[in-house]
Amino acid sequence: MAEEKPETTAVSAGRMSAEHFGTVNTPVYRTSTILHSDLASLKAELSDGKLKRYAYGRLGTPTTVSFEEAVSALEGAARTVSLPSGLNAITTAILAVCSADDHLLMTDNAYGPTRRFCNGALKRLGVETTFYDPLIGAGIEELFRPNTKAVFCESPGSLTFEVQDIPAISAAAHEHGIAVLMDNTWATPFFFPALKRGVDLDIHAATKYICGHSDTMMGTISANEANTQRLVSFVNGLGLYASGDDCFLALRGLRTLAVRLKRHQETAMRLASWLEERPEVSRVLYPALESDPGHVLWKRDFLGASGLFGVVLKPVSERALAAMIDGLKHFGIGYSWGGYESLIIPAEFVRTATTFQAEGPVIRLHAGLEHPDDLLSDLATGFARMNA
Ligand SMILES: *Cc1c(COP(=O)(O)O)cnc(C)c1O
Repeated sequence: MAEEKPETTAVSAGRMSAEHFGTVNTPVYRTSTILHSDLASLKAELSDGKLKRYAYGRLGTPTTVSFEEAVSALEGAARTVSLPSGLNAITTAILAVCSADDHLLMTDNAYGPTRRFCNGALKRLGVETTFYDPLIGAGIEELFRPNTKAVFCESPGSLTFEVQDIPAISAAAHEHGIAVLMDNTWATPFFFPALKRGVDLDIHAATKYICGHSDTMMGTISANEANTQRLVSFVNGLGLYASGDDCFLALRGLRTLAVRLKRHQETAMRLASWLEERPEVSRVLYPALESDPGHVLWKRDFLGASGLFGVVLKPVSERALAAMIDGLKHFGIGYSWGGYESLIIPAEFVRTATTFQAEGPVIRLHAGLEHPDDLLSDLATGFARMNA
């Protein structure tokens, strides 16, 4: 039989209907204590020195396991853990592989709070971070030190959209026994099969596309076999936990992710192509566009492009920019993305290893599920206000 397609896996993996009176969706379990029938059964939970999965609420319930199994199946991962936010998934993955006196390589286009964590808590714990050029590729090897434990990637960067050569970075890292961690939120498991491309710990802000409805904060880390034990024991040891309600919503989002992504992609492509032709625009940062410097790598490694992209405007006054953005009807001004609604924000970022030359202000758009005609006319009216 042919290999099952990801759309099918996302719909069926993790179902537990037989254990739940035939219900398609695993219900929300709310529990702390799990009762055991007798002392022997309580003792059996600890017999191999490890707690079984359903021993205590913090370790998860069938709701958690349904969600995690579905993500693992999509990722081709040995195990997925659910965490309370995307940022928590990032910091947890780093802490699971780096100890005091270790060295971490962090991409210079990383999500802002990831950078702040490296320069703050991680530094205080004795882990040194070197920021590297996201376009370094196999050249990453020159930055390896004897104590380098991990290379962290984010591709494309969520504000500047550089595409990284993940297979080349992974190949170099693995030759030195270094783990590759990736913030893969932009592409989701559908558009970038990270573990197949050499990533060891694949991280998602499930808050974005996986949950998909701007109503839940969640993060996931999916690990290959070699990294599962250290990840799970670290997560359990720290007492990290995502609630049954959140796992339920995340799984509900995952079930429809494929169709939503398709629409996000189509609309983003339409908006990005239109914007590229506008006289107010210097360039559009969207790897699916042929004009994008990351297009060739994107085409080689990715299976699609999601709905988030950047626009570098030509120089314009702050007042004119505000006139454009403040009056938009369908683009909300707010952080996050990956929900059903369109968003717009000015992109603010810090660089230390590289510079990002922008001709004018950089804005970031999320193409939601509204009709693209309405979004285009909203932007056109916005440019008219900008030019007035
Ligand atoms: C939003 C975001 C995160 C953090 O996710 P939260 O759930 O908001 O903590 C991490 N990485 C990227 C690329 C993001 O856009």
